[in-house]
Amino acid sequence: MSNLQFSFKNKSAVVTGGAQGIGFQITLSFLQAGGNVTVWDYSEAALESAKKELASFKDQVQFTQVDVTQKDSCEKAVQALAWPCDVLVNNAGITRDKSFGKMTFEDWNDVINTNLTGLFNVTKTLSEKFNTASAHKRIINISSVVGLYGNFGQTNYAAAKAGVIGMTKTLGKELGRKGFTVNAIAPGFIATAMTQAMPKETLDAMAAKVPVARLGSTSDIANAVMFLASEQASYINGAVLSVDGGLVI
Ligand code: NDP
Repeated sequence: MSNLQFSFKNKSAVVTGGAQGIGFQITLSFLQAGGNVTVWDYSEAALESAKKELASFKDQVQFTQVDVTQKDSCEKAVQALAWPCDVLVNNAGITRDKSFGKMTFEDWNDVINTNLTGLFNVTKTLSEKFNTASAHKRIINISSVVGLYGNFGQTNYAAAKAGVIGMTKTLGKELGRKGFTVNAIAPGFIATAMTQAMPKETLDAMAAKVPVARLGSTSDIANAVMFLASEQASYINGAVLSVDGGLVI
């Protein structure tokens, strides 16, 4: 649970990929801070499981199956929104890792379509549905340290995540006058279901590369999202916040 004392009472967030992993923790943190959340996720199983886990927040949370790569799917989800949106967290993402020589056109297209075009689809369709009364409209994009520094085996992912940063800075310039701030978070190594399946030696080797000597938690990312979404962060715009324990110093 987040120790930060931000209140999102009477505010609503849309969290893409919000049914599992980092997105689930972001959803939970908003709910615990009194906000309403619409979870947009592709995975039917994850949506069902999140619905059960969040049963105690049932009046504050809406679940919609959405494919962010499909404009029509986003438009349909926007029509179904239970609340006007104050905060959008573009978190949905996938990896299809291979060295450049082995990477297929499909690997490239899947990752760009989800991690970059998906952000455009969601932000574009949702931007008209933001709460016009809100003086603190927020867009928070989940990038990656890989988008800043590249990574072996992730040409597609690094390009998409670097693209997210370019989009964040541009939207920060374009939408600032309309009451938005637009920022990105660049997570480092974060412990999720995926890392739980890795051998202990691999995890120890990853942690050893991080100056604070541990992997990040999903709460580390959710806490940063809460801050950037808060009224207190209203003068932060177009920033990329690395949440990586100093991995890329
Ligand atoms: P997860 O795979 O745990 O969760 C991502 C969610 O997004 C899944 O539920 C997934 O559904 C959903 N999703 C995928 N494609 C789509 C789509 N087309 N439309 C809607 N939803 C979709 O990922 P993480 O929690 O690990 O990562 C969250 C974000 O953080 C991503 O953007 C990732 O790139 C970024 N990140 C993660 C790091 C980490 O160490 N975990 C490090 C740096 C950045 P499904 O299961 O069906 O694919």
